[in-house]
Amino acid sequence: MNEQVKELIERLNAEHCLSLDEYRYLIENRSDEAAKLLAEYAVKVRREIYGNSVFVRGLIEIGNICKNDCLYCGIRKSNRNCERYRLTEEQILECVDEGYSLGFRTFVMQGGEDAFFSDEVVCGIIRKIKSAHPDCAVTLSLGERPRESYAALRSAGADRYLLRHETANKAHYERLHPPEMSFDNRMRCLDDLRALGYRVGCGFMVGSPFQTARELAEDLKFIENFKPDMCGIGPFVPHHDTPFKDEPSGTLGLTCFLLSIIRLIYPPVLLPSTTALGTIAPDGRERGILAGANVVMPNLSPVSVRKKYELYDNKICTGDESAQCRSCLETRMRSIGYEIVTDIGDIRK
Ligand code: SAH
Repeated sequence: MNEQVKELIERLNAEHCLSLDEYRYLIENRSDEAAKLLAEYAVKVRREIYGNSVFVRGLIEIGNICKNDCLYCGIRKSNRNCERYRLTEEQILECVDEGYSLGFRTFVMQGGEDAFFSDEVVCGIIRKIKSAHPDCAVTLSLGERPRESYAALRSAGADRYLLRHETANKAHYERLHPPEMSFDNRMRCLDDLRALGYRVGCGFMVGSPFQTARELAEDLKFIENFKPDMCGIGPFVPHHDTPFKDEPSGTLGLTCFLLSIIRLIYPPVLLPSTTALGTIAPDGRERGILAGANVVMPNLSPVSVRKKYELYDNKICTGDESAQCRSCLETRMRSIGYEIVTDIGDIRK
């Protein structure tokens, strides 16, 4: 590792920020040694705030019907081969009840942008979850909606919202999305969510097509400024029925490197070790935790729909054995010295 890289890592650890050019330099000069030092500092600062606890979120994939056509995504509307589904309110509430008895205290409802899930429908579901389980947090990940919609969902009891910014570079955003979608609206959504009092998660894919160290540096600068409560990053993984089917996956090494940097930029951030990371490497999620992540999000969707929520190829935990996601993750976390906790798992800022 050269002296300059070392100095940047020391300064990032001490001051939690670097310039755009410095982030870029750090990424361009990534080495195993640099990754190791970053992970050491990241784990140290995370341990001071969260000990060896890993927070768990139950992910419920409520439907894969989507009006958008994001070029990377397997459930994009142009994909004729995608078998569409939508969970009923009863099915969603059953997943929540089952999750509650397994110790989950946060439920994430994620899905495509589907007009069926109107404010009225989603507010009704949120109210039922909250009245059955007042000690739980409800997180939504339902894409872009008008500010009034976010306000209505928040009034109904939603606590958190995950909306990855996907890339902080407008030109890059436009290469990943169809012309009907806009970078400015994505950013507007994040600002509205924050202003409405949600805990907000942003994030991006590592190794998405056309991404270079320059775009990644902009993502890091954005995170430094926005200070999201949560930041979801995982490798891009191609899906065979999308325009990006022949593009390479993001790598474990770069994803872990960025997880460590993000932990140092904003020490209290909630940082999931994602399913996509577990998809590109058998021990991907463990490696993410060892790089500084502190959240895992096992799938609570009914086994019958899991294969259909296929954002990318070879997604793990979609088979018959997947009902045991929580205990499988518990064993994995224990094997590296971490404990999954039954806790609402709020950010400690
Ligand atoms: N419709 C919601 C939920 C999207 S799915 C929304 O717009 O927020 C959640 C995330 O999966 C996306 O934000 C994207 O970053 C990620 N994703 C989609 N396709 C992917 C792929 N091919 N590889 C890796 N991650 C992908």
